[in-house]
Amino acid sequence: MKNILVTGGAGFIGANFVPYFIENNPEYHLVNLDLLTYAGNLENVSEVENHPRYTFVQGDICDRNFVEELFQKYQFHDVIHFAAESHVDNSISGPEAFIKTNVLGTFNLLDTARKLWMSAPNQYNVGFENSRFHHVSTDEVYGTLGETGLFEETTPYAPNSPYSASKAGSDMIVRSYFHTYGMNVVTTNCSNNYGPKQHDEKLIPTIIRKAIKGENIPIYGDGKNVRDWLYVLDHCKGIELAFKTGRSGETYNIGGRNERNNLYIVDTVCSILNELQPKSEGKYQDQITFVKDRPGHDLRYAIDASKIENELGWKADENFESGILKTVRWYLEKFKK
Ligand code: NAD
Repeated sequence: MKNILVTGGAGFIGANFVPYFIENNPEYHLVNLDLLTYAGNLENVSEVENHPRYTFVQGDICDRNFVEELFQKYQFHDVIHFAAESHVDNSISGPEAFIKTNVLGTFNLLDTARKLWMSAPNQYNVGFENSRFHHVSTDEVYGTLGETGLFEETTPYAPNSPYSASKAGSDMIVRSYFHTYGMNVVTTNCSNNYGPKQHDEKLIPTIIRKAIKGENIPIYGDGKNVRDWLYVLDHCKGIELAFKTGRSGETYNIGGRNERNNLYIVDTVCSILNELQPKSEGKYQDQITFVKDRPGHDLRYAIDASKIENELGWKADENFESGILKTVRWYLEKFKK
């Protein structure tokens, strides 16, 4: 049995990934390390809590001593690193936590692996030789696009928010551990995810929550900002594939070719709600209100996923319309409780 460390597995994407990975990879025992910040919730992984190949550990990736002890205890074969501060709005009001967790935390994991491997290569080889260190990152590191063009893996980094800057910093540290120490690293940069288990603060859960409570549904600016939406399980499948078959030192963009602006997202969610849970009077669209735009709000993100599609054979299973229907149904159930 190989031990794999998954960081941030009680957050949105990690909590979709953990049960999926355990189910599909019987040769692994998965250790989920999560600090359980406001964004982490063990209910998100309740379906695996008693699984024999699953262990949850609460702890901070920024705590170097703790990380070293954990690596020594489990002698991990691989790491998949999700843990991060992830909400752009919070990075504007309080950037420090983002720099700490996303930059220092990532460095701690990499450097612990390096130090242990250098001290006893036969005992600890996580992230070296055939053991992988997979870093989960975002397309926001590329900055913003105009009306046309796509982010490719060669697009220069130009992060605009403290969140994306901290993720860009972490990507660069990962890169340097490949070039300097020969670590077996892969980074995936993914577009906006949506689906079950996302924190209530994010766009789609906010729309659904406010809509069914009869509150105003806020849209930043004119609602014309475009994001490339990907169903979370398709992201998880892309991570698993790149983790297993990606070339060491490479980065892979993951995106579903589903460019939609915020107005379209809100309108689609409202239309599904009109069908599934009609209001006694009027439509959910009547609750839409425009609010002051977020500072530094990037206009458009869109991913060119040709590299992971052509080289590794990944393809999104869900289109936006099928994925969003599943998603709205899931949140309606959740908010009913
Ligand atoms: P999330 O905020 O929902 O979850 C992050 C998890 O990390 C939480 O469970 C939190 O408790 C944990 N965490 C935070 N600080 C920690 C620390 N110091 N030590 C240990 N655990 C800590 O985030 P998410 O949306 O699931 O994103 C996961 C990863 O995917 C992030 O690295 C993010 O940058 C990346 N990503 C997200 C998206 C998206 O659309 N959500 C898109 C592309 C990439």
